[in-house]
Amino acid sequence: MEVIEQVSTLRAIVTALRCGGKRIGFVPTMGALHEGHLQLLRASARENDVTICSVFVNPTQFNNASDYNLYPRTLEQDISLLQTVSCDYLFAPNAEEVYPQQSVLQFSFGALEAVMEGAHRPGHFNGVATIVSKLFHIVQPHKAYFGQKDLQQVAIVRQLVQTLSFDLELVCHPTVREADGLAMSSRNKRLNATQRQLAPQLYKALKMAKRDLQQKSVTAIKSEVAHYLTQVDELELEYFEIVDPLTLQPLHDVSGQEEVALCIAAFVGEVRLIDNMVVNLKED
Ligand code: AMP
Repeated sequence: MEVIEQVSTLRAIVTALRCGGKRIGFVPTMGALHEGHLQLLRASARENDVTICSVFVNPTQFNNASDYNLYPRTLEQDISLLQTVSCDYLFAPNAEEVYPQQSVLQFSFGALEAVMEGAHRPGHFNGVATIVSKLFHIVQPHKAYFGQKDLQQVAIVRQLVQTLSFDLELVCHPTVREADGLAMSSRNKRLNATQRQLAPQLYKALKMAKRDLQQKSVTAIKSEVAHYLTQVDELELEYFEIVDPLTLQPLHDVSGQEEVALCIAAFVGEVRLIDNMVVNLKED
């Protein structure tokens, strides 16, 4: 695997690959890689001739300076892991390389970003759209792989790809979980032992809500989840929403819906975690 830090170097490689008719798969990440990332990379390696991974902790998508400063950075370990999954190129630029000038471009995603992560993390999706657009221009992938763990991010990137006519296929990979149900996340590395034991309660709350979807009202399920989680020490619920999986707009009644998404965000100690579950009401 070749590690590349300069945009110009990667552009030259991509041009040569595309001229040679190679199909490029791309997995953008912020590093501190775990099995969730590795599954995206393995899917890319299976479905493309060449796989490019990026590791870049993107400052413009953090609305909280301490979250940015404390975000785990483990590049040497990431390189070792990438070597196990047939990744061909790692793009690991520094912030000056990606943002030689401050970006003043503003994206707006309307209703899609007015809820959940967009509502609670002002500017977050503007930063996501900025970095994803830049990376798509530099890497020019045929297929780009994102995780369902960040469901709203997938919806935003889907709209970005359509609106700006990026010529690529977006692949949404299912959430990869630890044995106890906790969604894998780089931020899990920041949990202490007690918090790590409590964190799977988020997934338990989602499963409880899923179980009750056919029997109880949306309001009843929301208060049940809130009540359940107030009993967990060190856990502070930020939101729990039952939404349409494509528009992400909150539902007040699930009857008539084929699918719904259950989305949750909570602080476990100082660490903010998110998770979701998409439920097919006709099958599940
Ligand atoms: P991140 O490094 O957290 O920005 O994540 C990079 C990509 O990996 C994003 O598309 C995430 O949605 C995806 N990802 C992160 N955690 C998981 C997981 N547990 N399962 C599946 N995909 C994930």
